Amino acid sequence: MSIPFIDLAAQQRRLRAGIDAAFARVLDGGQYIQGAEVGELEARLAAFCGVGHCLSCANGTDALQLALMALGIGKGDAVFVPAFTFAATAEVVPFVNATPVFVDVLPDTFNMDPESLKRAIVHARSIGLNPACLIPVDLFGLPADYDALIPIARENGMKVIADSAQGFGGTYKGRVTGSIGDIATTSFFPAKPLGCYGDGGALFTDSEEIAALVDSYRVHGQGQNNKYINERVGMNSRLDTLQAAVLLEKMTIYAEEIELRQEVADRYRAGLSNRFTTPRVPDGLTSIWAQYTLKTADEAERAALQERAKATGIPTVVYYPIPLNRQTAYRDYPVDPTGVAVSEDLSRRVVSLPMHPYLTRETQELIIEAVAG
Ligand SMILES: *Cc1c(COP(=O)(O)O)cnc(C)c1O
Repeated sequence: MSIPFIDLAAQQRRLRAGIDAAFARVLDGGQYIQGAEVGELEARLAAFCGVGHCLSCANGTDALQLALMALGIGKGDAVFVPAFTFAATAEVVPFVNATPVFVDVLPDTFNMDPESLKRAIVHARSIGLNPACLIPVDLFGLPADYDALIPIARENGMKVIADSAQGFGGTYKGRVTGSIGDIATTSFFPAKPLGCYGDGGALFTDSEEIAALVDSYRVHGQGQNNKYINERVGMNSRLDTLQAAVLLEKMTIYAEEIELRQEVADRYRAGLSNRFTTPRVPDGLTSIWAQYTLKTADEAERAALQERAKATGIPTVVYYPIPLNRQTAYRDYPVDPTGVAVSEDLSRRVVSLPMHPYLTRETQELIIEAVAG
């Protein structure tokens, strides 16, 4: 028996007839770019998170880059990102000629540490950078602590982009993640909680002005809804109609899948919290559980856990084995001057287990038994 880390096939079996019919409609219509499904999906997603505008694009990385472009971030600007995240969060910053500054995370939520952010802002100023933008990440599906982070950004005149590539559908004190920050972004990479069958992404904002800029930047900086009138240097970043059609089908069951994910997370906690540190979800927040990530006592215990799981045919993954500030590509950028000790520690101790809405109780019992050892 092989146990998938994320079982996309189970979901596809459930939705296959609807997806086949949706594909047929797109093929019959022939509007492969910017077909009606794209607009429908954007309206549906905006309503889902209670925000004025949703703009789809080619992937979650482009969504972050388009956000920086629309906010006018550029040369001399410091953009604060967690050291413990997927590379895309930092990668887009040099694309717009700004400087990523790495901030540490908290040991219990794995999300950005407000105190480390304050130190990083002072440091950025001291080396001549202009603190311009903050990108908190909803790591593993748990919203960042926006009520602590956004006031720090505002006091320093900074914009906020919420990187919710892993968090779309989680809630922060009654708000769905896409509605937080000047702009929120997400990814529809297949393995994300809401994934399509290829690459895709989206931005969310309540600002009419930002929405208009993103709409222009994503189609070659077009003016007057015409790509042959170019008002600014933009990019080509659109969501395919076929992918929008897939996502519309998936949206019909997303609310139910969110509940199923929570049940899976609850069973993991019940089975493993006496053996490892299981994720903490602060009061008033819900996680979408993009990952279920344990913290072991040390690196050796993690290695033993992974070995045991592997011997039973259970895949486990380490997100992330190296903090970004120590990656070859990013090691020359500024960091919180006191270091990012928590990110370093987590990179040695975290391990993620199979997580998806279709994980059965029986399979999960097998996983818990093997992992607990
Ligand atoms: C996946 C991911 C992205 C990028 O999304 P893509 O669609 O793969 O480009 C950005 N930020 C985080 C935190 C992610 O996990």
